[in-house]
Amino acid sequence: MSKLTTTKDVFKITLPTPFAVGDVNVYIVKGDSLTLIDAGAKTEEAWHSFNEQLAVLGYKPSDIEQILITHHHPDHVGLLDYFSKEIPIIGHPKNQPWISQDKQFFEDNEPFYKELFIQLGLDPAFVALIDMDEELEYSCRRSLTTMVQDGDFIDGMPGFKVLETPGHAQSHIVLYREEDGMLIAGDTLLAKISPNPLLEPPQFGEIARPRPLIQYNNSLKRLLTLDISKVVTGHGDDILNPHELIKERFVSQKERAYYVLQMIKENPMTAFEVCTKLFPKVYLKQPLFTVSETVGQLDFLEEIGEIKIEVVNGQHIYHAN
Ligand SMILES: [Zn+2]
Repeated sequence: MSKLTTTKDVFKITLPTPFAVGDVNVYIVKGDSLTLIDAGAKTEEAWHSFNEQLAVLGYKPSDIEQILITHHHPDHVGLLDYFSKEIPIIGHPKNQPWISQDKQFFEDNEPFYKELFIQLGLDPAFVALIDMDEELEYSCRRSLTTMVQDGDFIDGMPGFKVLETPGHAQSHIVLYREEDGMLIAGDTLLAKISPNPLLEPPQFGEIARPRPLIQYNNSLKRLLTLDISKVVTGHGDDILNPHELIKERFVSQKERAYYVLQMIKENPMTAFEVCTKLFPKVYLKQPLFTVSETVGQLDFLEEIGEIKIEVVNGQHIYHAN
């Protein structure tokens, strides 16, 4: 059943996912068009639940006129496959290779990951645990029909403006409505958890990999400049005190970074060594997430000048300055 009516024109639907994060929230926005924001993981269970909750709102899937995705992760796009081929799909251009499962894109990225894993000092047995394709079965094979970027407004959704918020995903956007301070945030801000700054390959002619935690902090700083009354999120509850929460997030991120700095001061080490110490209980279960989080903290410390990298046999050894 639908958990709650979020606001006068934005309705929340909560769907199960097969992932550790738990349920995902998608939203029906009643504007000039009936818009679905995000689409859940591709499982029968999620589709069934979606149909049930949509019916409570008085709709069926064919009533939905367009779908906007906040970012490309499977728990936000998988159910796109269940919709008609004609329905417009709106998102940032960086979603495209992921949501279409572009084989060439994945092949092109292989050398990048291979080199990255050497740099990070990943043990080959650990690399074997990282299955990049694992989650793709819950994703979709669709294409964007409308690409949007920072500052764009969405047809059919009066007042909502696109803001690019890279960090958790390079493709991430949020929708902000200045008139009432409503923010549709995807995974950019979550009530209970800090989203993972997932490592992604360089895209669109970029050479260096993105530094997702630094981007993420900048995205949050940008949200601090907005007058926000309510945030509806990709997982968990709405947020009514976003500025306070963002400031708390900065404090805990810094604490974690300084904890990492302390380790490095005692002993210069690779990102992988930091990862095993930072997440001794989960690094084997969630290899990509824990490595991404670790690299995020190291990028942060490097950015603020606390550490530097020494390259030894292709591996990056982090030293305190
Ligand atoms: Zn996500």
